[in-house]
Amino acid sequence: MRAIVLGAGVVGVSTAYALAKRGVEVTVIDRQPGPALETSYANGGQISACHVTPWATPNTPRQLAKWLGRPEAPLYMPLLRCDPALWRWGLLFLMNTPLAKSRRNLERALRVAMHSRNLVKVWRSELGLEYDHKSKGILNFYRDPREFEAACKSNAAMNAKGLDREVKTPDECLALEPALETVRPELVGGIYSPSDESGDAWKFTQGLAKAAEALGVLFRYGTPIRALEAENKRITGVLLAQGERVGCDAAVVCLGSFSGKITESVGFGLPIYPGKGYSITVSTEGHGGAPEVSLIDDENKMVFSRFGERLRAAGTAEMNGWNDNIDARRSRVILEKTRKLFPNASDYAEPNFWAGLRPCTPDSVPIMGASPVEGLWLNTGHGTLGWTMAAGAADAVADAITGQTPAIDLAGLGMNRFGE
Ligand SMILES: Cc1cc2nc3c(=O)[nH]c(=O)nc-3n(C[C@H](O)[C@H](O)[C@H](O)COP(=O)(O)OP(=O)(O)OC[C@H]3O[C@@H](n4cnc5c(N)ncnc54)[C@H](O)[C@@H]3O)c2cc1C
Repeated sequence: MRAIVLGAGVVGVSTAYALAKRGVEVTVIDRQPGPALETSYANGGQISACHVTPWATPNTPRQLAKWLGRPEAPLYMPLLRCDPALWRWGLLFLMNTPLAKSRRNLERALRVAMHSRNLVKVWRSELGLEYDHKSKGILNFYRDPREFEAACKSNAAMNAKGLDREVKTPDECLALEPALETVRPELVGGIYSPSDESGDAWKFTQGLAKAAEALGVLFRYGTPIRALEAENKRITGVLLAQGERVGCDAAVVCLGSFSGKITESVGFGLPIYPGKGYSITVSTEGHGGAPEVSLIDDENKMVFSRFGERLRAAGTAEMNGWNDNIDARRSRVILEKTRKLFPNASDYAEPNFWAGLRPCTPDSVPIMGASPVEGLWLNTGHGTLGWTMAAGAADAVADAITGQTPAIDLAGLGMNRFGE
C-alpha cells in the first residue's frame, strides 16, 4: 500500500512511523522545511494523560462570561469578531457543556491519552529517543479553595478510571517542588500524577522522523498542499501547490488546524477551530530556582516544563482565526507571570516568544478514523493535547488503515459523531 501522510507535526510524523512499521510505503508532505515547525514546535511539553479535561464542562459558560473580551484573560474571544466558522464551532462547543456530554468526552479523550502515554515510553526505549524528557510526574497546584475542592471531588472518579492522581497538601506540594516557595502563602493544595511525563515535542518529532526515514519513509518538506483528489468517492492523490499530482492508495490528514481547509476540496469540512496559545522559553543556566517537576498553574491556566537548561511556560487560548501572529501584550503576560512565580529561575534576559494554533474540536476529542471518502483517513483535532495523544492516536489509526484491530476502541472518535 502507498500512503501519503499530510502534515509533519508530531501527529503526522507519529502516523508515518506507525504506518511504516506495519510495512506501508509512506510519503509525508509538509510546507515547512522540517518536522514539527508549527504547533508541535514549542508547546507546553506535558504528556498529561491524568489531566485530560475537556474545555466544555458545566462550569465553562460561567468562566467564559468572566473572561469574554478581556485580552489578558486565559481564554480570549474577541466579541466583535465576525467569523461564521467560530460561531458554528462555538455553538457545538456549548452543546458539549452538559455534565453527561463532558463525562463522555473525557472518557473518549482518556482512551487515546492513556494508550499514548504507554506507547511514548515504548518508542523512547526502542528507538533511544532523546528529547529532554522527565519522568517526575505533573503537579497541578491550586490557589482557589473552591477550584481545589471541586478537583478533589472528581479525583475518586478519575482514579476509578485507572488514573493515578494523588491529592497533596501545600506542604506536600512544596516537598515535591521546592521552587513553588513563592506561592506558599496562597497555596491550598495540589493534584499530583506521578506517571505523567514531560519533554520537548519538537526534539521528539525530529528523532521520530529520523527513525521513520530509516524505515524508508520519504519526507517532502517545503511542499505546500493545495487539495486532495478523489474519483467516485475514493481518494486518488494529492495536488501540490506547484501543480504536481502525487498518487496514493491511502492518505491521512494530519494538518492540525488546517485540516478542514484541505478536506473541503473533497466535499467535507471539519469542526476544527484554531485556539492560539503562547509560550516563552528561557535559559536557566547558572540559576537554581527553576522547577524540575512539570507544573500546571490552575488559576492562570499555564503549564511549566523543564527541558535540561531551559524552562518553558505556556498558556492562554485565543479564538481569533487562522493566524499565529504574536501579540506582544499576551506573551508579556506569560513572561511576567513566570517571572513572578519563579524569580530565581532565569535572568529572563532573552526569552524566546512563540505562538501556535491548537487544532481544537468543540468536544476536545480528536477526530480519528475513516472519512466519507474511501481511502482518506483522519488523525487530527488533538487540541490542547496533541503531544500527549500523538503516539497512541497514530498507532490506532495505522491499525485501522492496515485492517488490524486497533489497541483502543475507535468508537466515538470519528467525524460522524458530530452528526449524533
Ligand atoms: C501554547 C501551547 C501549549 C501546548 N501545550 C501542550 C502540552 O503541554 N501537551 C500537549 O499534549 N499538547 C500541548 N499543546 C497542543 C499540541 O502542541 C498540539 O495539539 C499538537 O502540536 C498538534 O500537532 P499536529 O501534528 O496535529 O499539528 P501541527 O504540529 O500544527 O502539524 C501540522 C502540520 O501540517 C502542515 N500543514 C498545514 N497546512 C499545510 C498545507 N496546506 N500544506 C502542507 N503542509 C501543511 C504544517 O506545516 C504542520 O507541520 C499545546 C499547544 C499550544 C499552542
